Amino acid sequence: MADDIRPLPQPGILDIAAYVPGKAGAAGSHAVKLSANESPLGASPKAVAAFRAASEHLEIYPEGSSNLLRTALSDVHGVAAERIVCGNGSGDLLHLLAQCYLGEGDEAVMNRYGFSVYPIITKAAGASIVMVEETDYTADVDLLLAAVTPKTKIVWLANPNNPTGTYLSDAEVRRLHAGLRPDILLVIDSAYAEYVTAADYSVGLDLATQASNVVMVRTLSKMGLAAARVGWMVGPAAVIDAINRIRGPFNVNLPGQLAGAAAVRDTEFTARLKAHNAQWRDWITQELDSNHMHVVPSQGNFVMVLFPDAEHAQLAFDTLMERGLVVREIGNSYGIPHGLRISIGSEQAMRGVVGILKALVQIA
Ligand SMILES: *Cc1c(COP(=O)(O)O)cnc(C)c1O
Repeated sequence: MADDIRPLPQPGILDIAAYVPGKAGAAGSHAVKLSANESPLGASPKAVAAFRAASEHLEIYPEGSSNLLRTALSDVHGVAAERIVCGNGSGDLLHLLAQCYLGEGDEAVMNRYGFSVYPIITKAAGASIVMVEETDYTADVDLLLAAVTPKTKIVWLANPNNPTGTYLSDAEVRRLHAGLRPDILLVIDSAYAEYVTAADYSVGLDLATQASNVVMVRTLSKMGLAAARVGWMVGPAAVIDAINRIRGPFNVNLPGQLAGAAAVRDTEFTARLKAHNAQWRDWITQELDSNHMHVVPSQGNFVMVLFPDAEHAQLAFDTLMERGLVVREIGNSYGIPHGLRISIGSEQAMRGVVGILKALVQIA
């Protein structure tokens, strides 16, 4: 029997490059991880307690619709629980959206330096991704609209965007939506919503509750619960219905549901994280932005630092790594080889990064 006959994935699957997560330090090292936009203040103590309590019930299937978590989200964000679906991280929901609304011959549009998960899930659904140029590392509404064709089914927009930290104002997002045909789904991925301080920003909840072709996707990963894998989404009843038909029947585990609900209700902790982030994001931006390094103004819990060239970025990455500070390279996965993405960490970590990079510039 020919042994080259074997199960084959669908066409295109093997052309997809797997997502590259931010590096961690060497096992057992005391490296500080600034490569995955995690919370520098841990998780809400109330979420930790809820997670522990879940350990008493590990033999029981969780309630399948994440009702308890959706109720907490409904209470805190003022949106009907029926219009919410929860997921095993927001990555779960993004995959489901692609599976539901994209197929062979379809196109999804995204900005060039948008989140690197979008091309993966688009191609996994058999569709093609259309990459659109940006202006100053920011999504450009006119260019996005110009890229729409009769085949377009989804527009992916991370707002604020990862890895650039840039954002579109509420008015710009509405202009984008107004320019799309009603059969095109606009996915607003507000993964960093809690960290935004810009007054003209909107998380997208109004559009997601009022329009028939907009969803807003959120996550608790950047708010201290990355390990628990909790995401959520708000959208039109018809989209919520479609997702509920195909999602895993128990897609959010019990510890995730309980910890997630406690974290959502702990608005004091959320405010503390936001205040810490704003303080040190402003500080590192001011300290590093100079003739030698450009810090792109960020609304997330990270900054993108641009160096004169890829060699300088590599030198900075290696030097930080040697000193136990692990940041995110964005050459291969994002096509920005002269940039590094640095998560906002503790005061000590931020002072460490700034000290090392300033010293490097003086000797370079
Ligand atoms: C981190 C991130 C997510 C969240 O992923 P999870 O699966 O919820 O951990 C989604 N979108 C963007 C743009 C992100 O940066």
